[in-house]
Parts: sequence; C-alpha cells; structure tokens
Amino acid sequence: MRTNEEMIAAVVRKEETTWINPWLLPFATTSATCELVVSDEMIADAERRLDRFAPFIRKCWPETEQTNGLIESPLTPIPKAQKKLEEQYDVSIPGRLFLKMDSHLAIAGSVKARGGIYEVLKHAEDLALEGGKLVETDSYEVFAGEEMQKYLHQYTVQVGSTGNLGLSIGIMSAALGFKVIVHMSADAKQWKKDLLRSKGVQVVEYADDYSKAVAEGRKNSDADPMSYFVDDEKSVNLFLGYAVAAKRLQKQLTEQGITVDAEHPLLVYIPAGVGGAPGGVAYGLKRIFKDNVHCFFCEPVLCPSVLLGIATQKFEKCNVHDYGISGVTHADGLACASPSGFVTRIMTNLLSGEFTVTDAKLYDYLRLLYQAEDIQIEPSSCAAFAGPVGLLHYADSAEYCAAHGLDAAKLANAVQISWATGGRLVPEENRVEYLNTHL
Ligand SMILES: *Cc1c(COP(=O)(O)O)cnc(C)c1O
Repeated sequence: MRTNEEMIAAVVRKEETTWINPWLLPFATTSATCELVVSDEMIADAERRLDRFAPFIRKCWPETEQTNGLIESPLTPIPKAQKKLEEQYDVSIPGRLFLKMDSHLAIAGSVKARGGIYEVLKHAEDLALEGGKLVETDSYEVFAGEEMQKYLHQYTVQVGSTGNLGLSIGIMSAALGFKVIVHMSADAKQWKKDLLRSKGVQVVEYADDYSKAVAEGRKNSDADPMSYFVDDEKSVNLFLGYAVAAKRLQKQLTEQGITVDAEHPLLVYIPAGVGGAPGGVAYGLKRIFKDNVHCFFCEPVLCPSVLLGIATQKFEKCNVHDYGISGVTHADGLACASPSGFVTRIMTNLLSGEFTVTDAKLYDYLRLLYQAEDIQIEPSSCAAFAGPVGLLHYADSAEYCAAHGLDAAKLANAVQISWATGGRLVPEENRVEYLNTHL
C-alpha cells in the first residue's frame, strides 16, 4: 500500500486515483465518541420530524403521494450499466450494482432534498412552536395555511450555494412563506437561478467561488435578527436530514430481500462537495451496518477538498487552491474548495476512502448510464461510478478489500451502491448538451 503522503501526492498531481483512509477504525472503537456528537436518538428525532411534516409535503407536492409525503427515492439494480462499465473499463465489478436514485427525489431533484429541506422544516417548526402557532400534535397541514404563511413571512432564510442546495432551500422556504435569499457562486448553472427566481426567490450572484458565496451570505444574514442562515460548512441539522436516509435504505434493502452482514458486505460510493450530504448518509449507514458497510466518497480530480481535508487532518483549513488545484470543475455540485470541518472530523475514523474522477469521465459515465439503463443524471452525480470501477482496479483499494476480509467469495455476495445525487430537474436542452459533451 502506498503511504498516505504518496496517495496525497497523486491527488495533488490531479491523477484519477484512490485514497485509502489510514484513520479508519473498527466501528466498536469509535462508536461511543461519535454517539456524543451525533446520537442515534438525534437521527430518530429528525426522522420523526419529517414524519410530522409529511401531511404538509403531500398536500403541497402531489408527486409525493406515492410515498405518503416522504421525500424518498428508489433503489434500482443497474445490471446493464454494471456490465457495460466492466467491458468499457476492463475491470471486474463484483456483486450486484445498484443506483440509489436521489437524482430523482421529489421537490428538489437532488440529495439536497434530504438535508436542505429538513433544516428549513426544522426552522419553521421551531419558529411556529416559539410563536405559539403550533403544538406538536397538530396536523402539520397548517403550514400550508394562510395564517402560518403570513407568520413565517416576517422571517428570512438565507443560504450560500453552488446550485442544488439553493434550489432545495429556496423552493421549500418559499413554499412555507419565508422570504428567501440564495447566494450563488459562479459555478451555479443559469437554469438553477432562473428556476429559483420563478418561485419568488431573491438570487444574489457572485463572480467568486462557493466559499465566498457562503461567507457573504452568512454576513448578510447575521446583520438581520429576523434572518436565519443555513450553514452548509457547519450545520448539524443538515447532517441529520441526510442521516435519515440510512434507515430508509435499510428498509428498501430488506424489501428487496437483501441481507447485509459479514458474509454480505455493502459498499457505498457517494459524491462529495463540502461533505455534508455524503457525510450524513455514510454516518447513518455506519451506525446501522457498522463494519459491514464500507463507505467511499467520490470527488473530481479538480476539487478533492474532503479527501485532502481528512488526509491532511487540516479539516476546514484545507483549501484545494493551496495545493495548486483550481477547484473549478464541470461537477458544479461538488465545487467546494474547502470542506466542512464538522464532517471531515466526524468521518475521520469512519470513512473507508475516496475515489477521484476527471471531468471527462463524468460525461462518459453519464452517457453509459443513459444508454444502458435509460436513466439520466447530472454530471456531479456521475462521480459515484468512479467507486465500483476503481475498487478492484487500483492496487490500494484492492488491498483494502483484502485487509478487510472482502475476498472474492464475499465480494460476489456484495451489494454495491452508486449514490446518484442529482439530475431530475435538469432542463431538456441541458440534458442534450450533457449527452454531447466530450472533454
Ligand atoms: C451537493 C451535492 C453533492 C454533495 O453534497 P455536499 O453536502 O456538498 O458534500 C453531490 N452531488 C450533487 C448533485 C450535489 O448537488
């Protein structure tokens, strides 16, 4: 196995590679410390809050009728894409490959419909309870009513975003009656800004990157006592909203007759931007499946900020610019030059490793998935395929498998999940453009 320093050097050279986390510990060793920071009870509380809001969500978004007002996505086997990936990249992808389709989540069309929406709902509930406008046993359909909307309209919600977080926060805040200001970094796609403005959201644009949009948004919000800032770089509430995904996934696995245990390992690959979404999801999964789940993040070679934050143990002080990496990538949802300090710390002993991916490959994976399975997701999402393709291809990740008892027999029983994090709201003209992009 290469040393941590050798792996970091390859990342700094912007090579497609894997990084295996030297600080990963057996779950039992680290569980108690983690529990002090984010407990199972906190995740269960978040789950109950989303259940309370389900009647409101169902009423406002009939698309959630099927899931009874829960914002949840299908877990889909993608055997044709699995075979195509094996052929195209001359690799072996053992076990069964699934797509977790958060790309198709209701309301926001991305994984941000978990954390982003959860945090806004929690804030609305806090205000309504404080203001005596609600008791917990009320039907939360009251949030669709005029009186509550008028009450919440006194308040402002603000957020800094590369696009998708702004979409989820903007859409939900506006639906609850809040005033909303979304501070968008230069990476944000025009259609995302247009969509938000059409919902009455104020969009402020910056010529700078994501960290700048967050800093300005935070400053603007702190100056207004009626304003609340959703802080992607620090928020525990966002994290909890994402973590709820784990229990829901467990239920889907059970429904599909899939066992996860020492003989049937689960490998999960999630694209990372600032780290909140993949961190929350992976954290939730580790609490349930412990050492039987192996969580890997995937990042663009042009913006591997979470990888470097953990690998160097510099956490939020790490910035890809300090390593001569631009942070500018076609994966707009992953273009965060500095990672979350909270997530890089809490995942230090839980994350198995990372895979990096070039921008060109993102479009190749996008086309491959579309051709094989007739599913289209956005470029950022496609980073999730660097995992299954890389696992046995790189010597270090293959060695990780050997060191963790993932021999050929166990891998043959494995379920591998590429977590598709966004795509449903991409307009038709952009879809066509993506399919035709060759870098
Ligand atoms: C935001 C986002 C991610 C990563 O989430 P972070 O919380 O920023 O790590 C991944 N994929 C897509 C499409 C996203 O929008």
